[in-house]
Amino acid sequence: SKQQLQFKLVLLGKKKDQYHRESAVGKSSLVLRFVKDQFDDYRESTIGGSFSLLRLSPRWTRLTLSTLTAAFLTQTVNLEDGTTVKFEIWDTAGQERYKSLAPMYYRNANCAVVVYDITQSASLEKARNWIRELQRQADPSIVIALCGNKSDLAARRQVTQEEAQKYAQEEGLMWAETSAKTGEGVTDIFTRIAKKLPTT
Ligand code: GDP
Ligand code: MG
Repeated sequence: SKQQLQFKLVLLGKKKDQYHRESAVGKSSLVLRFVKDQFDDYRESTIGGSFSLLRLSPRWTRLTLSTLTAAFLTQTVNLEDGTTVKFEIWDTAGQERYKSLAPMYYRNANCAVVVYDITQSASLEKARNWIRELQRQADPSIVIALCGNKSDLAARRQVTQEEAQKYAQEEGLMWAETSAKTGEGVTDIFTRIAKKLPTT
C-alpha cells in the first residue's frame, strides 16, 4: 500500500521594518504559489496583522497561541514511488521577530524553509542567523532548505549563487533560487524537501 506521510513545515526569513514591504523576502508569496499557484503583486505583507491572512483564503486557519498568531495551510506532493507527502505549512504574521516566540513556532517542525531575497544581502545574513538558531534549538533531525527568492529580479541581484550555494554546502542544507512571482523553482524545492524527509 502507498505511504501517506504528513510533515510540519515552517517558513523563516527577514522581516526587519514592518512598514516597508521591500524588507519582506516573500515567504507568504512562496506559500501562495506552492499551494494555489497564484501570485499577487499588490498583496500586503502579512506583517503587522492577521487581516491580510484572513483575506487570502478561507482555507487559512488562524490559530492564536497566547500572543503568537500564525496560520497554516496544507499542500500534498505525490512522489514518483507512490508516496504522498502532505505538508502542514506554517507561515507567521511576523511574530517570529519576537525572539522568545520563535521556538514555539518551529517546535516540532520536520522541515524549515529559510528564505532570503537575492536583491538584499542583509537578508542572507538574517537567514544565516535563523539557520544557526535552528541548528542549536530545533529538532536535530529537521530538514533545512535555504531559499533565495525573487530570482526574477536578477538584474538587482546582491547575493551571488556561488556565495549562497557555498554556504549551504558547508552547512549541509538544501539550496535553491525561486521566484514566487514566476513560479520558477517553487514546486521543485518543496518536492526535494519531500524526498529528503524520512519515509518511515
Ligand atoms: P513575507 O513578508 O516574507 O511573507 O513576504 P511577502 O510574501 O508578503 O512578499 C513581500 C513583497 O515581495 C510583496 O510585495 C510581494 O509581492 C513581493 N514578492 C514576493 N515574492 C516575490 C518574487 O518572487 N518576485 C518579486 N518580484 N516579488 C516578490
Ligand atoms: Mg508573510
